Order: sequence, then structure tokens, then C-alpha cells
Amino acid sequence: MGTGTASPLLLLALAGACRGAAASLPSSGPGERVERRLTVMGTWLALGVVGPDRAAALRASEEAVRALESVEARLSTWREDSELARLNRAPVGEPVELSPELDQDLARARHFWLETGGAFDPGLGALVRAWGLREGGRQPSEAELVAARAAEGLAGFEFAAGRATRRHPLASIEEGGFGKGVGLDAAVEALRERGVEEAVLDLGGQVAVLGDGPVTYALSDPRERDRRVLELELGPGSLSTSGNSERGIVVDGQPRSHLLDPQSGAPAPDFGSLSVWSADATSADCLSTGLYVLGPQRAFSWARAHPGVELIVLTSSGAGLACLASEGWRGRIRPLVPELEISYPSDEPDTNQR
Ligand code: ADP
Ligand code: MG
Repeated sequence: MGTGTASPLLLLALAGACRGAAASLPSSGPGERVERRLTVMGTWLALGVVGPDRAAALRASEEAVRALESVEARLSTWREDSELARLNRAPVGEPVELSPELDQDLARARHFWLETGGAFDPGLGALVRAWGLREGGRQPSEAELVAARAAEGLAGFEFAAGRATRRHPLASIEEGGFGKGVGLDAAVEALRERGVEEAVLDLGGQVAVLGDGPVTYALSDPRERDRRVLELELGPGSLSTSGNSERGIVVDGQPRSHLLDPQSGAPAPDFGSLSVWSADATSADCLSTGLYVLGPQRAFSWARAHPGVELIVLTSSGAGLACLASEGWRGRIRPLVPELEISYPSDEPDTNQR
């Protein structure tokens, strides 16, 4: 993740400003709205804030960006100096005192590691390196895979009393599956503290909504990022999408997913995209990654057992495009292309658990 805040304000409408997906604030209502687009956490941020007046909305948006930058400074392992990067370099067996913020981030990530039976595993840094996820992909040797898996994912760390201890020389935490969510939650909190009651943030395709909305948001064809296929109505909370195949890697000339299944140690099978709506952005981020790895069937079972989490799966086969949606989306989604078929698998019997 690189930093690069555009200081001149870019007052672009959110809709159309972002690749692939777009969110827009309701156009009516009192207050002044400010819309900005800039770069932060190595990705784009489109931000719309309603404030009592223009200056207040601008100041609040600036606070939100600062909050994101401070999460980046804490979590980015694309830089050497973040707190997480330092933890990843700590000597094996030596407890490291965590800041309360990092302690909380890791506790939340750990929660979803446990809740998804390890499908979401923030400790898979060794596997990320073995598959060359940051360099476009590579085929690891058998020995590399054995070594990376021996690091045991998050089980390669011990957490106690605000400290973390690496238990294995390859133990390494990867923020790719939860950093954006943590950043969005921090930004929303900063806006709230400034008295903002209505805002929408789109950080590299994950959206967070403050206030009742409704905010209109479009999901893309998993095969074609610039083609919007499904419109959603969002209330307060966050929507995270995983598995857009364009973000995948290439291994031996074959496209593979950038989502790794910790159980197999290999890229998860690519079925399309999976979006998770949840009341907070960290949950949505962790879960879109973890539930993608579980696959659509087990993902829907999981969501049924966890009220407050809503799912949308987009799958393509041949010329067809199918949307599976959880019950909470009824009346809130509509197809933007004629071939999209929407169904609700919520009535089907539960057959698979992890
Ligand atoms: P995006 O970054 O495109 O929004 P995700 O939120 O799904 O997509 O995160 C993907 C990133 O999460 C990967 O690039 C990698 O850094 C990390 N990752 C891959 N597989 C897993 C997994 N099983 N658990 C946790 N993190 C993962
Ligand atoms: Mg994500």
C-alpha cells in the first residue's frame, strides 16, 4: 500500500468516478454535501459527506482521510515501518507489546478466523509469498508449500494480554483481507465524531454507509469489472466484495484466484464474486474473503446461522449470469442486464457445514 493523498479537492460525483462500482448519496435532504476522490491505502477512495455547511463537511472528510492514513501506517505490510510489519519481523518466541489499536484489529481478525473455521486466515502471509500474490502470481515448489503451511497461519501466533508472540520463523500476518475494512470503520468513526450523520465511502470497491441512505450501489459482472449488472439499495453498514477475477493472479499461464484456501494451501476455486453486507466494515471485509473460500453453499449456510450478515453471490457460466441473494435483499436489488437471474436459496435445506 502506498500513500498519496491528493490535496486539491476533487469534487467529482461518486457515481461514475470509480471503476466497476459506484455509490451515491441520496440527492435530497438538508445540509451541504462534499464529494471527493483521492488515493489512500494504495487504492482509491471516493467519499461523500453531508455536513451542516460546506466547511464543516470538508473538515470532517479530512478527518476521515487522516483516520484511514493512520490505519495504513499501522497495518500496511507494503511498508517496513508499520506496526504490523514490525511484528512480522519480531524474533520467534519474543512477546511484542501491541498498541491498543493493533491489539483490537488483530482480535477482530482473529474472531473471524475462528468463526469461519479458519477459511478467513489473516496469518497466511507465508502462503501469500509462496504464491507470489503481490507479484502477479507464481507456482510454488512443493517444498515451499510445505514450509509455508508449516507456519500454521494465525495459529503461528500467540496472543495474550496485549502482546503477540511469533511461534514460527515464517509466521506472518497479511492485512489484505481485513485492512480496508478496518480503515473504513475508522473513517466512519472519525466522521461520527465530527457530528456527520450522513456519508458514503467507497474504498477500492468496499462501500460504507453512514446514515439511513438509502444509497444506490452497483455490483459488476465478475468477469468484466466495468460492466454493472446488479443495483443494490444500501442502508447503514458496509458491503465488501471478494473474488473479482480481474484481481486474480496468473500461475503457469492459468488465471487463479487471489484468495487462498488455508486448508488446501492453494488458490480457492473461482466461481465469480461474493459480497457481504454487515453493520461494520471490518466484519464485511473479513467475511467476504472467508466466505468466498468456503464457497457459495457453505457461505449461505454460514450466513443463515449469523443474522445481520447478508450475502450476494454472482456466478457466470457461458453467456449466463446468476445472482444468489440472501433473504434480506428482497425488494432491494434489481438486475441491470437482461440475462441476470436472481434467486434466493434461503429456503433450501442446510446440507453443508464447516
Ligand atoms: P480485495 O483486496 O480485492 O478487496 P479481499 O478483501 O477478498 O479482496 O482480500 C483479498 C486479500 O486477502 C488477498 O490479496 C490476500 O492479501 C488476502 N487473503 C487471501 N486469502 C485469504 C484468506 N483465506 N484469509 C485472509 N486473507 C486472505
Ligand atoms: Mg476486502
